[in-house]
Amino acid sequence: MAQIVIRNLKKEFGAFTAVRESSFTIEDGEFFMLLGPSGCGKTTTLRMIAGLELPTSGEILLDGEEISQLPPRERDIAFVFQMFALYPHMNVRKNISYPLVSQGMPRAQVKAKVAEVAQILGIEDILDRPVGGLSGGDRQRVALGRAIVREPKAFMMDEPLGALDAEFREHMADELRALHDRMGATTVYVTHDQLEAMQMGDKIVVMNNAVVEQFGTPQEIYDKPATMFVASFIGSPSMNFVNFHGQLGPNASELDMLGGRFSVPQSREPFEGDMAFGVRPEHVTLSDAAGFRGEVLATEYLGTTQIVTLQTAGGEVKARIPSSQPAKPGESVGLSFDPKTVTLFDRQSGRALKSELNESVLHG
Ligand code: ATP
Repeated sequence: MAQIVIRNLKKEFGAFTAVRESSFTIEDGEFFMLLGPSGCGKTTTLRMIAGLELPTSGEILLDGEEISQLPPRERDIAFVFQMFALYPHMNVRKNISYPLVSQGMPRAQVKAKVAEVAQILGIEDILDRPVGGLSGGDRQRVALGRAIVREPKAFMMDEPLGALDAEFREHMADELRALHDRMGATTVYVTHDQLEAMQMGDKIVVMNNAVVEQFGTPQEIYDKPATMFVASFIGSPSMNFVNFHGQLGPNASELDMLGGRFSVPQSREPFEGDMAFGVRPEHVTLSDAAGFRGEVLATEYLGTTQIVTLQTAGGEVKARIPSSQPAKPGESVGLSFDPKTVTLFDRQSGRALKSELNESVLHG
């Protein structure tokens, strides 16, 4: 059982800041994703939790106890490096037993523990096989077994599926998530793959340039992005931004933009300046009646739906609409937007403006 609280956690390497004042809470039993592009500080955050890196400042609380300066072995946290890192000269049983044997655990107890873990992972039948000839999936199960057998308080996993091809990766992601649901151990998982994070995670922290941009459930992050970075990093195609200069009154639920008037979630923050009107492609509809116009640039057929790219006065906009609806390149069409889903951004800072839609979830 483990709750992990991260408070103002910071890591500097000389003059370079890899993690800047991160704060978030990982609840007991959660499958928690650290998501962001390469170099944003995910691995450094994970290594600080595991004790492989000491923070420059800030706190890490494991079940209420401050652990940020403890050596790794005193934290009771397992770090699953590359899932395929096994001892090649040992068989499956010995690979899994190793952490217990090296702790000096009596033989009978080791045997019982290994049997239990093998049953959880469904690998009882391969315990006496050499690891050399195992399939990728079985190697991964054995590597997990070695981490699980110590019964740590929490697991840290750094891109564990990174080396796998797409199909196998998806299968293993499902298996890992199912295993988590059976065991219920707190797991922190690093990935740069937004789909993986959305599919597997109970909660997600989105990082960019050493900063936590937002943390929340996959749905909160998708529906109520706190910044333009989050809005564009999550979702494919990503959220549209219609750029304009305008103003928003204190409790306004309508907005003048590029000569048209649009309904928006009621504002909680008056604003004047450069804004972006954020709307996801599935919340854009095309209808001749709408006054806001765009020219069709391209269409991409996706089976029952198509993605239509349009040029508007506020920039390019993509709409996901039924394939049966005609849209020809060069045509001028009207666009309307589902008003309940719109997020407005301050374009200079990239921050979402507060509204009735997102007031409860904004980070910071
Ligand atoms: P990736 O997916 O590429 O590993 P990441 O988000 O996990 O990215 P980190 O590995 O945490 O990123 O690295 C964040 C930044 O800190 C990078 O610019 C990296 O070069 C730098 N960094 C990491 N470790 C060190 C170190 N020991 N010394 C100096 N700089 C480091």
